[in-house]
Amino acid sequence: MTCETLTAEDAAALLLTWYDRHHRDLPWRVSPPMARQGVVADPYHVWLSEVMLQQTTVQAVKAYFDKFLRLWPTVEDLAAADSEDVMKAWAGLGYYARARNLRKCAEAVAREHGGRFPDTEEGLKALPGVGAYTAAAIAAIAFNRRSAVLDGNVERVISRLYAVETPLPAAKAGMRQLVSRLTPADRPGDFAQAMMDLGATICTPKRPACTLCPFHMKCMALHSADPETFPIKAAKKEKPVRLGAAFVAIDNADAVYLRKRPDTGLLGGMTEVPGTDWSARRDGETSVDARPFAAPWEPCGTIAHVFTHFELRLSVYRANVAEALPAAGGWWEPIATLNMQALPTVMKKAIAQAIPHAFKPG
Ligand code: SF4
Repeated sequence: MTCETLTAEDAAALLLTWYDRHHRDLPWRVSPPMARQGVVADPYHVWLSEVMLQQTTVQAVKAYFDKFLRLWPTVEDLAAADSEDVMKAWAGLGYYARARNLRKCAEAVAREHGGRFPDTEEGLKALPGVGAYTAAAIAAIAFNRRSAVLDGNVERVISRLYAVETPLPAAKAGMRQLVSRLTPADRPGDFAQAMMDLGATICTPKRPACTLCPFHMKCMALHSADPETFPIKAAKKEKPVRLGAAFVAIDNADAVYLRKRPDTGLLGGMTEVPGTDWSARRDGETSVDARPFAAPWEPCGTIAHVFTHFELRLSVYRANVAEALPAAGGWWEPIATLNMQALPTVMKKAIAQAIPHAFKPG
């Protein structure tokens, strides 16, 4: 079997025919049959889902997307929301700078654009927290602009279709040009979503289902090598390790001592248990100064959490106190309502290490 040349016309025809039959039904998406009836995607929904989907799976995002729309049905509602409520609703999705930017962006749309998202990539990129990828995705999906949308799924498909030998991330600019060349003037939003769906469901990282792929006669990787070897990635640098300690105090009424992190910096504005700063040298044994108050602190293990730029190892200490001590800058939160706090995953891990039943239902 020889590899046929892929023209832009072929790519659009093959992929959109496949998409019409096999698209994923997603809560923020207008499906092809609805689009044919004139329904257009709401830019607020597209933006919210795209921000949530960065670094997070579709499955995890669905529940958060529904929750945000229930709490804040319009971008104006989100703009008027209390920042802490937004952080609480976001807790568990990770990468908390996204939540801070989410509200800032909603404010900018509400105040500077009368509640309507700009309809060009350039206008969208000027909004807080909206990068090149998100701007292209909103422009294509919500405004049917012929924008080149390149996420991780699309990178994988393109790298295989053209057997791209340049490693990522250096290959990105060239891949964007290839996507740009393939994106049709008619239905560019559906084309972008179809590429994402193909990458997510057929052209998967391991064992791609090439026999079901609309491009199987045109794919250079399939005809010349092992598709799984693409995309080629530059060797990863090992993440540096930082160390720290976390102090989980519980009183005899089953309440945990919490405090709010400073508004700026990593996990800014989120809720935490007291602890040391996180450095390359300090460990739990040298953290006496970070204890929130004198109490019979006992070591109860270590947890690890991976951030984008480093791996954190936290020594966790637990103290049982007879009654809630005066709250110096923090507060005592009943275990039953811990889930309503803006606790990032790393803090939930620390609390669960000290109190195994803390987040178990019932
Ligand atoms: S033929 Fe296989 S490797 Fe090529 S794009 Fe399709 S699923 Fe991916």
